[in-house]
Amino acid sequence: MLNIALFGPPGAGKGTQSEFLIKKYNLFYISTGDILRRELAEETKLGLQAKHIIAQGGLVSDEIIVQIIEKTIKNNPDANGFLFDGFPRTFVQAYILEGLMIKLNTKLDLLISIEVPEEESVNRLLLRGETSGRLDDNEEVIRNRLREYDEKTKPVLDFFKERGNYMAVNGVQKIKKVTSEIRKAVNKVLARKQLNIVLFGSPGSGRGSLGRAIAEKYKLEFVSTGDMIDEEILRGTTLGIKAKELYENGELVPDEMVIQLIERKIENSKKAKGFIFKGYPRTLVQSYILDGILKKHDTIINKIIEIKVDTLEVIRRLDNRSKTEACMPYDTSTEKIVKRLQEHQEKTLPVVDKYREFHDVAVVDGTDEFDKVMDLVSTEIESSFKALD
Ligand code: AMP
Repeated sequence: MLNIALFGPPGAGKGTQSEFLIKKYNLFYISTGDILRRELAEETKLGLQAKHIIAQGGLVSDEIIVQIIEKTIKNNPDANGFLFDGFPRTFVQAYILEGLMIKLNTKLDLLISIEVPEEESVNRLLLRGETSGRLDDNEEVIRNRLREYDEKTKPVLDFFKERGNYMAVNGVQKIKKVTSEIRKAVNKVLARKQLNIVLFGSPGSGRGSLGRAIAEKYKLEFVSTGDMIDEEILRGTTLGIKAKELYENGELVPDEMVIQLIERKIENSKKAKGFIFKGYPRTLVQSYILDGILKKHDTIINKIIEIKVDTLEVIRRLDNRSKTEACMPYDTSTEKIVKRLQEHQEKTLPVVDKYREFHDVAVVDGTDEFDKVMDLVSTEIESSFKALD
């Protein structure tokens, strides 16, 4: 997802720049002003509540704004991203926006402030008033709107300056020049965005080989916590020695140790186009840990794939594997296989359901032969890369 907010006084050219941004980045446009005007024209309860305030150039209550924004976002669950025009306009709305983004498991990528001096705004709005038919495009109301902007909206900039997702552009230049500066800033944000995939699937679903192949094909870092622990053991590191002891006693490697490994991997792969996680998160606790780690590195999960294979087929595959050289220590008996499948069912499936609340989980049928499944997974991934383009 790519989420942008356009900021600036009335008449700064937010509407004009929106047209470019919507088309170029395939964003869903949310202009609170437009929505309010529509409500007003349709004489809805909300429109009637807001009419008087809009006519005077005041700001409509945050209570009304949160309702219209939430409704619009909810009605567009498949949006590639949102472009906010005229929102947030108060400190409270800045917090509302943060909350909404968290709910969608995304964030505001950029707030673009188009800067225009007061007299220029007034002149532009008076000119617009000659044709716009808007009841608030007359000098007295314009001055009020600008006062509201100075007093209530401008201070909101500090909120975003602190978060580092803010850019200012001089709005008194040729439209094309403003657009080009905005395009550069957005492209920079896009270049930093990573594609982070979590690959779910029961043991024997093929997630290991698929994960590795995907990582290679799309130049992503493959994060398999199991492999990472094995490597530590092989290298005889302090962590490896501890992990080996735990393995030998039949205990699980504690989350604290796994966190260190993932953190290190992410730290060492700053340039990566993204990560593909396999075998992690396996529990609800781990899913919160992963969200936390990614947040710390200013990134998020943006694709979840679940490989589905019928249980009987999975048992058949694991049983077959146990008779080959690829046999893993945990494949050696029916008891162990059943235990792993049960763990997956009881602990990991709830994690997939948790993600389902906020993400669109792509379910891929993993029954077919490897290449065919790989094609299905690739299609899913390519659609996500497109969303980042
Ligand atoms: P705009 O089209 O963005 O200039 O908005 C026109 C008018 O709608 C404003 O002067 C406000 O009265 C009202 N309005 C639009 N967006 C908001 C908002 N986010 N918060 C409060 N009032 C708003």
